Order: sequence, then C-alpha cells, then structure tokens
Amino acid sequence: MNKTALRKMIVPFFGFSQEHDRSCRVEGAFLQAIEGIKNIKSFAPRIKIEAAVFISGPGLKTLAELTHYLSNSGIDEFRFIFSGDSLGLTGVKGRLCPAISGAVRELKKARKFLDQVNKPLQLEGIAPCAASSLKDRLIEYRYPFNEVIGLDAKIAGSRKIREHKKEKLPFCKSCQENGSCEGVWKEYLRSHGKSEFKPL
Ligand code: SF4
Repeated sequence: MNKTALRKMIVPFFGFSQEHDRSCRVEGAFLQAIEGIKNIKSFAPRIKIEAAVFISGPGLKTLAELTHYLSNSGIDEFRFIFSGDSLGLTGVKGRLCPAISGAVRELKKARKFLDQVNKPLQLEGIAPCAASSLKDRLIEYRYPFNEVIGLDAKIAGSRKIREHKKEKLPFCKSCQENGSCEGVWKEYLRSHGKSEFKPL
C-alpha cells in the first residue's frame, strides 16, 4: 500500500470493543481492526485513516471513550454517522438508533476532545435544525462526490438514494436551510417522530 497512490482509508466502527464485535457478529473484530490500523501506520504512515463511526443507542455511553481510544490508536480523521450512511445502505435502524438530542450531546464532547488534539470531525445524517452547534460539521450537502462504485462495479448516485430515503416535513418550507437541507431519514421519523425538528 505504501507504494500505491492510495491517500486515505475509511474504517467503519459500530461501537467500542465488544459492542462493535456484537454488531459485526465477529468476535475479536474490533481488536483486529485496531491491529490493522497500527500496521498501516507503521508501514504506510502517509496514508490517512478515517474512522466512520456509526452512532447507536447501546454505543452512545461509550462514544467518548471510543473516540479517545481510536485517536490514540492512529485514527487521523473522524466521521460520525447518524441513522444511515450517505447511501442509506448501512445504518442503525429503528429503536437501536438513539434520539438525536442525546447523540448531539455526546458528539459535542467528542468534538471538544478532537478540537484539542487537532483532528477533524465530520458529521452526516442529522438535519441542521437538530444539530445545534454542530451544524458547521455536517457534510452530506457539501460532498464533492456523490457517486459510489460498489462491488458489482456499478455506479450508484448517493444523492438520488438519499432523496428517496429522506423526507421533508410540512414546516420545512419556512426554514432558512430548506434550500440546502435534504430532510430527515424516513426510518428515523418512523421510529422517533418529528418532535425534535423545527424550522431555523
Ligand atoms: S429544512 Fe426541515 S429538516 Fe431541514 S433543517 Fe429546516 S426544518 Fe430541519
């Protein structure tokens, strides 16, 4: 890998330690990922490694601990994903997904720490009206690329998929973010309702 043009790798995490193992259904998956990250850092240190951290209800109480641990294990950049990834294909569904307010509270702690160690934090899946002071870290509206090549070698348009899987609410028309906001994941609205959203 050190001899290739590869600039960045993205490693998904579904929780800290055994929580990640449980979600992946592979015992030891978390430690295996950490060992892999350490190997890359030793042998191909110029490659940046981003953690794509999926936020779940069971994983919320250890989110700060996970962030510290990953940072100390060589992760350079953090992307926290709420409810669904940019394709809406991988995510934390239904009641396993925490309320946005609780997630934002924990994410603020993660941001405080990452700001201190000078590592970027990006956030996707949360509507601006529910993101509070993390609004400036939301990224899906600013993606330079919205196409993904899957294992079947076909190109999927992520923006189109998100349009299909997200929904605008009746009051969105009066929101100043209406032009750029993509709305809320339908899956989240089905399990948690719309009470956390209001026009900005
Ligand atoms: S457009 Fe709707 S969902 Fe988006 S930020 Fe505004 S109120 Fe929230």
